[in-house]
Amino acid sequence: MLAVISGPAGSGKTTLVEELTRAHPESVRRAVTATTRLPRPGEIDGRDYHFLSRGKFEQMLSEGDFLEYNVFNGNYYGTPRQALLDDLARGGIVILVIDVNGAGAVRRFFPDAPYIFVIPPTPGELRRRLERRGTETAEDVGKRVSIAEREIDSLPKYDFLVVNAIVADAVRDIEAILRAFGSLRITGGEAEKWRAGKYAKKDRQADPQAFRTS
Ligand code: 5GP
Repeated sequence: MLAVISGPAGSGKTTLVEELTRAHPESVRRAVTATTRLPRPGEIDGRDYHFLSRGKFEQMLSEGDFLEYNVFNGNYYGTPRQALLDDLARGGIVILVIDVNGAGAVRRFFPDAPYIFVIPPTPGELRRRLERRGTETAEDVGKRVSIAEREIDSLPKYDFLVVNAIVADAVRDIEAILRAFGSLRITGGEAEKWRAGKYAKKDRQADPQAFRTS
C-alpha cells in the first residue's frame, strides 16, 4: 500500500515519518526520492535522498525514469519509478513524502492511496521552526515560507489533514488513517506496550520533539 504525505517545509513531516517507521519497522517504510539539492548536515545519500547532479537527474528524466518530478526552490526533486514499484512489491506500507505538485501527479497513478497533508499549528510556528532548523540561509527561509503559504492552498486536494503540534499525537493521527485504510494491523506486542505506558499521553504544554532538526 502507498501513502502520500505532503506538507510545507517546517511542518515536521520528516520527523513524523521517521517516528512512524521507527514504531513500525516491519510494516512501514519511506520511499527514497531523488534531488539535486545539496545534502543538509546529517543527511545521508541513499537514506534521506538520492543526491544527484543536475546532469544525472536530467539524464534519468530524459530516459523516463521518474514517475513524477518537480522543480522546488531551484532544485529538481523526483520519484524514481522502478524503485517505488519494487518497494511496493515488497508489501507493507510505503510512504512517499513529496510536494503538492508531485502528489497531484502521483494521484493519477495511485488514486486510491491516502493523501495526507501535514501542517504546523500556526503560520508563526512554521516560520519559527524553519528559522530554528538553521540549515538554510535567511533568504532561503524567506522563500520557503512563501512557498509554504502557497502550498497550504492545496489542502483541499488531500484526503486528510494532520496538525503537527505534538509529535506523538500527529503520529497517532497518521496511524489511525493508515489503519482505516486497512493496512496497519495489530502485529503483537501492543498489550505489553500499553502496560509499559508506551501509549501514555504526553505533556501538552511543550513538546521539544515537535520539530527535530535533522
Ligand atoms: P526538502 O528540500 O525540504 O527536503 O524538500 C523540499 C520539498 O520537496 C518537500 O516538500 C519535499 O516533500 C518535496 N519532495 C521530496 N522528494 C520529492 C519528489 O520526489 N518529488 C516531488 N514532487 N517533491 C519531492
